[in-house]
Amino acid sequence: MEKIKMTTPIVEMDGDEMTRILWKLIRENLIEPYVDLKTEYYDLSIQSRDETDDQIVKDAANAIKKYGVGVKCATITANKARQVEYNLKNIFPSPNGTLRAMLDGTVFRAPIIVKGIEPYIPTWKKPITIARHAYGDIYKAVDYKVEEAGKAEIVFTNESGEEAMRKTVFDYKGPGVLMGMHNVNASIESFARSCFNYALDTKQDLWFCAKDTISKIYDGEFKAVFEEIFEKEYKEKFEEANITYFYTLIDDAIARVVKSEGGFVWACKNYDGDVMSDMIATAFGSLAMMTSVLVSPYGYYEYEAAHGTVQRHYQNYLKGEKTSTNPVATIFAWTGALRKRGEMDSNNELMAFADRLENATIKTIESGKMTKDLALITKMERPEMLYSEEFIQAIKNTLDGKIETVEEDPLETKIINEFLDAKLYKEKIDILNKYKDKLTDKLITSFAVSLDVVVDEGSLDKRFESLQSCVEQMAKFETTGLR
Ligand code: NAP
Ligand code: MG
Repeated sequence: MEKIKMTTPIVEMDGDEMTRILWKLIRENLIEPYVDLKTEYYDLSIQSRDETDDQIVKDAANAIKKYGVGVKCATITANKARQVEYNLKNIFPSPNGTLRAMLDGTVFRAPIIVKGIEPYIPTWKKPITIARHAYGDIYKAVDYKVEEAGKAEIVFTNESGEEAMRKTVFDYKGPGVLMGMHNVNASIESFARSCFNYALDTKQDLWFCAKDTISKIYDGEFKAVFEEIFEKEYKEKFEEANITYFYTLIDDAIARVVKSEGGFVWACKNYDGDVMSDMIATAFGSLAMMTSVLVSPYGYYEYEAAHGTVQRHYQNYLKGEKTSTNPVATIFAWTGALRKRGEMDSNNELMAFADRLENATIKTIESGKMTKDLALITKMERPEMLYSEEFIQAIKNTLDGKIETVEEDPLETKIINEFLDAKLYKEKIDILNKYKDKLTDKLITSFAVSLDVVVDEGSLDKRFESLQSCVEQMAKFETTGLR
């Protein structure tokens, strides 16, 4: 089978620990045999980041800006313990944080749904995609532990040094706590555009929620920015795509989400998104079945699994034990990237391959073959629990079954069966003569293989004659033998 060609590379970002092992298995078994894969490779392993003083992450981000699509393996976010473990020069920031900052993107997380792994909420039939604004609010807040009575004020001084605003936050009579937080319109606008684009891309409704009844100015601004951008830039496109945008309060949103069927994008402010994405991941069944894509408002896409490097499994792997680590979210990171690449390059074959690989993965699980994490939560009667490698092989088998299914020609099957069923060579000669004008090269080859003979190369007629004379020879021997 000829491999699918690619015109533009995908930015491939390798990672750490168990997911790095899965990465290679997926690439070699599920992609390379089918796609003439073009990637620009960046090794984002913790060692490579340390060696390059984190430059490799920035290079990868710039490559995504150049090519538009990236796929990333999970990576270790360094901390003190990791510094000791890997003997690192420095504790560099999380690669995801760097990529997000450089691409100005929003992260969308969606569960992969398979029959037999049921969400805890029975009404959920379709995935719910969470979009989290990943800038500011309490994550960039300044806070203070008040130890004594006193007045807290909020002051804004403009660039020319004038005091533009001063308000009392609270008159403390005794100890307490205090916090000041911020956000910026540029970031809220990017977030809004990424959400509208993603909803259009995936043809799903978009919900956005905040608490503007209480936080009239702060959350009110988020609501207003979304509304304005929607009215000016997206309203018509949404109508054409037959999808809707709607805003509601966060508490109302949660009530609606729980009662919904799923199948929409739920955009949340930073903290709400942090909390709700874990709720959604757990409620859909497993973190190992969550996909994640970073969408920038400039049209760059970076796909990955939502889970980490699965360190505990890697420790077992290093001891030489086989692990049953779930590769599904990482497979879907690849298919997401391949599909997007196909879409950008108008490469239908590549897009179709991404669909086929996803279907094969889902079909394999639905046939009862799965990794341990899923076997433990499935409703299926007797799931077959596989190690990662065997599971990937099972997916490959499903995929091959699908891709290589040849349309069966009933006449061809009939002729082959008659020929093979014939006990005497004399009968076989009759069959050859009977179907003489129906025989194809493929049939002649099959007959030759079944007889253990080699027929001459050349035209169909020549090959037929060659086969016929072989069978005649055998028939003669058969007659002699019978005497
Ligand atoms: P994790 O890798 O997500 O794994 C936590 C636990 O969840 C695992 O021990 C395992 O549970 C289960 N799990 C997660 N993914 C699984 C899979 N594919 N198949 C089967 N089980 C899976 O989180 P972590 O162990 O806390 O973090 C490890 C490293 O990943 C950290 O250094 C962290 O910085 C990094 N991290 C990276 C990213 C990213 O690159 N996007 C995201 C999160 C974390 P059992 O042990 O019960 O089997
Ligand atoms: Mg969280």
